[in-house]
Amino acid sequence: MKKALITGVFGQDGAYLAKSLLRSGYRVFGGDLSVSRKFFVNLEYLKADKDVEASRLDLTDQSSVQRILGRTKPDEIYNLAGQSSVGLSFKKPGLTKSINALGVRNLLTAAERACPEAKIFQASSAEIYAGAGKGKIGESEIPNPISPYGESKLLAQKYVELFRKERGSFACSGILFNHESPLRGTGFVTRKISRAAAAISLGLQENLVLGNISAKRDWGYAGDYVEAMRLMLCQDSPSDYVIATGKSNSVRDFVDAAFAYTGEKLDWKGRGVKEIGVSRRSGKILVKISAEFYRPADTGALIGNPGKAKRTLGWAPETGFEEMVGLMVEADLKRLKAGKK
Ligand code: GDP
Repeated sequence: MKKALITGVFGQDGAYLAKSLLRSGYRVFGGDLSVSRKFFVNLEYLKADKDVEASRLDLTDQSSVQRILGRTKPDEIYNLAGQSSVGLSFKKPGLTKSINALGVRNLLTAAERACPEAKIFQASSAEIYAGAGKGKIGESEIPNPISPYGESKLLAQKYVELFRKERGSFACSGILFNHESPLRGTGFVTRKISRAAAAISLGLQENLVLGNISAKRDWGYAGDYVEAMRLMLCQDSPSDYVIATGKSNSVRDFVDAAFAYTGEKLDWKGRGVKEIGVSRRSGKILVKISAEFYRPADTGALIGNPGKAKRTLGWAPETGFEEMVGLMVEADLKRLKAGKK
């Protein structure tokens, strides 16, 4: 039986990946900062909570990493742990670097000692290209991060490359463009929107307040992206891959699609922080803008070119934008009706 260790197993991607690996007959170990029962909620949602063997793991503590790898001796390691909010990284740059970059160095070093044959996946991010020009971004684009988050992910990717080229580690970075699901945290704009659209349609919330709704992202479905992670570790040799859909939508498009799912059509009026989204049906203002949710630096558009992943891994995203928005709003409607968060 193959063994996998997923760091950050309680997050969105950790839960989908654990479910996928368990379905394929893997023994799945998970690591996260705390193993308190309340953090099993994503695994519970996917009915994977009983089968994941979870332990406390702090990537910034080299001995903690060494211990878990020595004990579990995984064939595959998926590093999904990290400080995942771009917005928060402006407030906590040191913490972000410590977990997202130095933590990865700890993991690569510990794996070299404890399980040198293990194949390693590192979750890198499109944010390393946030300052790049327009057009679809592939692996050869010159990185240009504009946030502490992007910087930390770029440094981690450099460590992965170093260990691969200089030390012979089977280590790959998946340069993941935004990927969402009903398990996305409510701090991310997609889930903030899906939850608000559901709550407003149930009469539980008056309106939704957002920041820069003209920002565009290449939004894929997390359930599809974890399959790409697995495929990367099935190859004969390690490499880095952009994982994206190749299509982009604005935050405003996401809002339109989410409200449309609940039967609302929005008319947009005004510009900048004065822009509002008005219900065509009731005339009520359902969406407002506040400077509070703008970032010190924000990338206008990020679109990936998943050509290499398609050619080499045979991977392609299966879930379209509107289908994914529908899945998210539907899940939030169910949760709210059941009185859950
Ligand atoms: P990110 O791409 O990893 O930073 O994912 P987010 O979901 O946090 O943000 C995606 C985009 O939505 C960014 O360009 C944000 O500036 C924009 N955005 C607009 N309003 C909001 C908001 O209220 N919350 C968040 N998190 N992002 C917002």
